[in-house]
Amino acid sequence: MSSIQHLINTTFRPEVLAMSAYKVADAQGFIKLDAMENPYHWPEDIKQAWLAVLKDCPINRYPDPEARDLVKLIKDVYEIPEGFDVLLGNGSDEIIQLLLMALPPTASVLAPTPGFVMYKQLSDCLGLTYLGIPLLADSFELDLPAMLAAIQQHQPAVIFIAYPNNPTSNLFNEAAIREIIQAAEGLVVIDEAYAPFAEASFMPALGQYGNLLVMRTVSKLGLAGLRLGYIAGNPLLIEQLHKIRLPYNINCLTQLSAEFALSNKALFDQQTQHICQERARVFAQLNQFDGIYAYPSAANFILFKTPKDKATAIFAAIKQQGVLIKNMSPQGGLLADCLRVTIGTPEENTAFLDALSHSLATLAD
Ligand SMILES: *Cc1c(COP(=O)(O)O)cnc(C)c1O
Repeated sequence: MSSIQHLINTTFRPEVLAMSAYKVADAQGFIKLDAMENPYHWPEDIKQAWLAVLKDCPINRYPDPEARDLVKLIKDVYEIPEGFDVLLGNGSDEIIQLLLMALPPTASVLAPTPGFVMYKQLSDCLGLTYLGIPLLADSFELDLPAMLAAIQQHQPAVIFIAYPNNPTSNLFNEAAIREIIQAAEGLVVIDEAYAPFAEASFMPALGQYGNLLVMRTVSKLGLAGLRLGYIAGNPLLIEQLHKIRLPYNINCLTQLSAEFALSNKALFDQQTQHICQERARVFAQLNQFDGIYAYPSAANFILFKTPKDKATAIFAAIKQQGVLIKNMSPQGGLLADCLRVTIGTPEENTAFLDALSHSLATLAD
């Protein structure tokens, strides 16, 4: 064994050695419809106003460690119920990490699967026991009896439920989620990353359940580059997370930019509306193709099923035509034969639909 390999093997935890790094496809030169980003930037006058704000950013000083102005604005704008606190993270990914870092090493973490990959990735990395409970085939609904049985058997410290779910894009049955929150003796995190595109939220339910936390991000809304997520819940729970957080986890450029953006919320609402209109168009068009089945979406992306064993070839043919989407099929299980496309601008969506149409025609030859 080489000395560097020996050094690695004797230094790092086995969980870390067994993992692979989260890889992101190189999108340079492609129409980028792979990562649930908002395709729109800001009008020139808004950009100028934003730059004027940043010009006076005290970059030589540490930022406000509690980002008080931003927290206050988030509480107002997103109607966090009275009496609940908010913790900010460098993306909601960081909040998931913080929460898991606070658990005892014997804890288990439960989530429906397929779901957001970071729940498992971060649990594995920290040596926690991750339990993925399969969704029902076709409907992608929660398997409530299986969830309740797993809760009773394993008493998970944390349950993550993405609402809407990534990568299946649906909102799970609300009554089922409520039963899970009630049955759980540990925490339940409702991950509302796609809240801007869904007309449903557990935020108003915070007062009804002591073990409920609601997490969101500004990434899918149109600020993915900022890296800002937040979690709302009982102040005593949030206080525990503050202990683990690095003191200055939200830098001053992010704080000021987010405050500026939230003060211009109408702009994002308008962009969100465009994206939802396009979602309806792309959904309808996808379902017109022979052999394609698009699943209904409450998010800014659509999961669709392709003819058996053709997903990877279709993905590659679409990419060949300059459009990058996401191939979910290699994950197998319920995602076999599935591809996922993020809703872009009308032009980008049309380019995607044309590329798909061409790919299907070529494969049929
Ligand atoms: C994208 C996504 C996140 C991560 O968001 P960031 O704030 O960008 O880290 C969290 N949860 C779900 C379900 C997501 O799809």
